[in-house]
Amino acid sequence: MREYSIAAIPADGIGPEVIDAGITVLEVLAEQRGDLKLEFSHFDWGSDYYKRNGVMMPADGLERLRKFDAIYFGAVGAVDVPDHVTLWGLRLQICQGFDQYANVRPTKILPGIASPLRDVRAGDLDWVIVRENSEGEYSGAGGRVHRGLPEEVGMDVSVFTRVGVERIIRYAFRLAQSRPRKLLTVVTKSNAQRHGMVMWDEIAEKISHEFPDVTWDKMLVDAMTVRMVLKPQSLDTIVATNLHADVLSDLAGALTGSLGVAPTANIDPERRFPSMFEPIHGSAFDITGKGIANPIATFWTAVQMLSHLGEHEAADQLMRAIERAGEAGILTPDLGGKATTRQVTEAVSDAIRGRN
Ligand code: ATP
Ligand code: MG
Repeated sequence: MREYSIAAIPADGIGPEVIDAGITVLEVLAEQRGDLKLEFSHFDWGSDYYKRNGVMMPADGLERLRKFDAIYFGAVGAVDVPDHVTLWGLRLQICQGFDQYANVRPTKILPGIASPLRDVRAGDLDWVIVRENSEGEYSGAGGRVHRGLPEEVGMDVSVFTRVGVERIIRYAFRLAQSRPRKLLTVVTKSNAQRHGMVMWDEIAEKISHEFPDVTWDKMLVDAMTVRMVLKPQSLDTIVATNLHADVLSDLAGALTGSLGVAPTANIDPERRFPSMFEPIHGSAFDITGKGIANPIATFWTAVQMLSHLGEHEAADQLMRAIERAGEAGILTPDLGGKATTRQVTEAVSDAIRGRN
């Protein structure tokens, strides 16, 4: 019996609804397999915690999370707490504190879910987007001077370090190598940005020699959006900067049906700290409490979590169960269906047990 301890941070909005659903299917999976024990500890951090305590998580929060094998995260965001507080106060503190520098976003069209792209079906689009998660355009460097005056200047400085770029590109090559097509696309904007972006290109070229069996190419981010829409079959693993991958993965999410199915993993590839697994979507206040949040993204990120823990068989079993629920047409309203969160959870649980 292999045992894992997992910190659950459901946080805000629909976060608790989808994390509940995720824990339910993971418990069914563990029980059904019999070789796996998952122990969940709940943390009530988030916007309600902030309203009571003035912080999104306690000062020793990272210390308390450090001993876990993984973090299962819901969503942050509240109507009455500013976005920079909710985001920086919890999620980004964990990402940065645990140096989760690789943000990994699998994207594919699941059976039973239609893409807005004509002629594109399940299997035609199967990507993993690797987003640099620790520096770049979101470094926070910059400033504003002469506020409000005609001569005001605002600057956001992109910071790319050789260490930071090498490690994310190496991670992406390794991931591409582990996938059947062994195909990597490195995205930059090195025609217009002549410093950090050119360094990305040079580092990609250098690291490619460590992976002679991986076929790779370079794309400018603007041309990349066109290729994603017009030739989705030509792509497999994609690596890009913090900003570029942020934008490309929203596009990818739209091409695969709904934000409600898109998962993401914040990985510390060196395994010094726990990695964090979450749906891409936010707290979705418009549907909170209605019982109709799509739990698929939260199930899929659990597949990523199991893979990261080395439980590949269990991960495959859960992924197949998710696909079976889609095939059976058990879909929430964001995907044009009528099912509730609970019905999708039951359908996936039944599929794990081999009942549908
Ligand atoms: P945040 O600032 O917290 O990221 P947001 O307003 O940017 O929030 P989301 O909360 O992700 O965005 O929601 C965007 C839209 O997608 C909303 O209309 C929401 O209802 C819908 N949505 C997001 N996640 C889901 C889900 N799991 N199931 C169904 N609909 C969803
Ligand atoms: Mg958002």
